Amino acid sequence: MARLTQADLVELNTTFESRTPQELIVWARDVFESRLAALSAMQRAGTVVCHMLHSMKVPIPVLFVDTGVLYQETLDTRDRVIREYGLEVVTLMPKLTMEEQTKQLGVLYLSTEGQAQCCHMRKNEPLLTVKGKYDALIGSLRRSDGGQREKCPILAVDPEMNCLRINPLVNFSDDELRAYVKNHNVIVNPLHFQGFSTIGCNRCTTPVLPNEPKRAGRWRHLGPWSVYCGINPTDLNRDTSTAIELSQDVIDRILGRKTDFVI
Ligand code: SF4
Repeated sequence: MARLTQADLVELNTTFESRTPQELIVWARDVFESRLAALSAMQRAGTVVCHMLHSMKVPIPVLFVDTGVLYQETLDTRDRVIREYGLEVVTLMPKLTMEEQTKQLGVLYLSTEGQAQCCHMRKNEPLLTVKGKYDALIGSLRRSDGGQREKCPILAVDPEMNCLRINPLVNFSDDELRAYVKNHNVIVNPLHFQGFSTIGCNRCTTPVLPNEPKRAGRWRHLGPWSVYCGINPTDLNRDTSTAIELSQDVIDRILGRKTDFVI
């Protein structure tokens, strides 16, 4: 195994800034083949990625973390994606139901420390059950969502999952996203039509007012300091000097070192 750090990706990330989302998905498919999956929470940008995979005939699994306390509309959106886009959606769930967790640990999401623990148990841990199965995960983060995501790189190392995170939509503006949804009649989580700008667990997500920031509806009961759950490592100010370990062959393919491989 060989090490790959965020610093190793600087040049490639610069080159990739001019690529379209579809070009980035094709690159990911060619580099990672069966070691590639997508990760979607079935929000608008996530279903756009699902539509791209469907229309481009890139039949990779889509990982979906069901915390057990999602809105029914989100589960229905997942089921529509399976039915209408023909994608394999792998639903990952926490070990404990929310009821069991609450009996053991109390209502965690009512404090900032508890929220971090609850999100880790109900989001990160289910995702970690597939650690080692994939060398790369395609996400749907966009810089125009603001906040920490304004600086989101296209390629980012994820030391916890030991894989590469690929965000082909980082440069997709709100207008481009809206246009893509309209032009391709993309499945949209109906909660987006009820004032939810972002969508998570039913315990911790509310609609937002027109003049509020997009993420104001997340953990509203905790105040403005809890904005991200951490399932996307670039949302948190983690140490960027850490590395992931992949086979030398895969790293050569990522960095375009193979003479028979064109990026
Ligand atoms: S969003 Fe709330 S309920 Fe969902 S995992 Fe995080 S703290 Fe728990």
